[in-house]
Amino acid sequence: MIIQLKKNISPEQIFVIRTELDKHKYSASDVNTQKNSYLVAIGKAEIDIRRIGSLPGVADIHRVSDDYKLVSRKWKTEYSEIDFGDNVKISASALSIMAGPCSIEGEELIVKTVEHLKSNNIRFMRGGVFKPRSSPYAFRGVGIDGLKLFAKHCHAAGIKVVTEVMQTSQIDDMYQYVDMFQVGARNSQNYNLLDALGKVDKPILLKRGLSGTVEELLFSAEYIFSGGNEKIALCERGIRTYEKSYRNVLDINAIPFLKDKSHLPVILDPSHAVGIRKYVDSVALAGVMAGADGIIFEMHDQPEIAFSDGQQSLNFPESKKLYAQLRAAFELRKSF
Ligand code: PEP
Ligand code: MN
Repeated sequence: MIIQLKKNISPEQIFVIRTELDKHKYSASDVNTQKNSYLVAIGKAEIDIRRIGSLPGVADIHRVSDDYKLVSRKWKTEYSEIDFGDNVKISASALSIMAGPCSIEGEELIVKTVEHLKSNNIRFMRGGVFKPRSSPYAFRGVGIDGLKLFAKHCHAAGIKVVTEVMQTSQIDDMYQYVDMFQVGARNSQNYNLLDALGKVDKPILLKRGLSGTVEELLFSAEYIFSGGNEKIALCERGIRTYEKSYRNVLDINAIPFLKDKSHLPVILDPSHAVGIRKYVDSVALAGVMAGADGIIFEMHDQPEIAFSDGQQSLNFPESKKLYAQLRAAFELRKSF
């Protein structure tokens, strides 16, 4: 059960609500986010929620039968938006497009990418500066100095920075340069990191784990939300299966499923889902038609010489073509 508290609730009123919950053997957790204060109560007994709902200080109350609570649409039926300022939003009413290299490599690539994004009216640039690589000998990112350059050029052009944070100790140093912290597939269930990002007042792009279920993804989002950060987008990026013909298998089902079960925005990463450049457009378009609120894909000025994931990166002309296709697909979907 989720009990939303009034802004001016007194400690005595909270005590009365908690006492009532105790009586029914419900355990209650305090959740204070950027937007609201809640008590999330878990218990088994049949309980008349109207009684608790009528107690002073309660703004709203909902029974949520899902095991995840705050990210569930059983509680909040209208879709959540993430507002980045400067007229940039992730929401169900417009398609967000995010593009950029797998890894930030150097200033020249940043400048070229920003120019390309700006001229195509794309408001998010992706790019890793701390790279989780399967091999320790592969390129592992340019680090915080690269992030500073990345942010400098993006922010001068009104473009938002999306980049992966790999560990809690990086958050403070990265904070001022980042507009959206990406949690990578390999960290999708790193609960220390999720807890720490719950304390951050910046949006989170939470990827599904390599072999993670959609329910595990929702629980990971619940960690961040219950830690205090409501600004979360869920990201489907393909899952491991027995199929070896492509990097991963896009779980297209996850898109309508997550849009049904959760009020959080859903983003698709077609690049890591398929891993092969020539299929990225088809996979991305399928995601838009399935209901994705945004697409994040890898793009490089010269994919052939990219430091990482060149095989799945589109070049600029290919990306330009894809923006037009994605926008047309979104308009078509809206017209249904
Ligand atoms: C990435 O976005 O570059 C990345 C490493 O993705 P994932 O965590 O989904 O593998
Ligand atoms: Mn990559």
